[in-house]
Amino acid sequence: MAYVITRLCVDCLDQGCVEVCPVECIYEPKDASPPERPNMLYIHPTECINCGACEPECPWQAIFEDRELPDMFAGDLSLNATTQDTPKQFRVASPHRDAEGRLQPKHRPTTEQVRANRLRWDEKP
Ligand code: SF4
Ligand code: SF4
Repeated sequence: MAYVITRLCVDCLDQGCVEVCPVECIYEPKDASPPERPNMLYIHPTECINCGACEPECPWQAIFEDRELPDMFAGDLSLNATTQDTPKQFRVASPHRDAEGRLQPKHRPTTEQVRANRLRWDEKP
């Protein structure tokens, strides 16, 4: 079992999940321009120790345990697994810090923004 980041993360990348992951198994694409590699973070399926620490940190509710993945995001299981299949396309994500090394404050979306983000995917065919 592993946790999975869904496309609800797309273009957010606030790295809140990265800050709490104890095993650095959350990756970002080196090049997010190909359509098969969206601009989001990815969890490596065999490096993840299933601790669950990242899930409550995600302000966009984008992280799920694999067995609880909503149907509409079922394809994101294999999307996350591309970190294992094509490791050279990814690097370990690192938390955003300022020049003094302090962690950057996070944008906290409102409930309405979280709902609107989810609707973007609900409405896809
Ligand atoms: S905290 Fe959530 S939205 Fe932010 S980068 Fe991690 S998975 Fe993406
Ligand atoms: S469940 Fe734990 S090990 Fe897996 S990605 Fe989240 S924080 Fe990292």
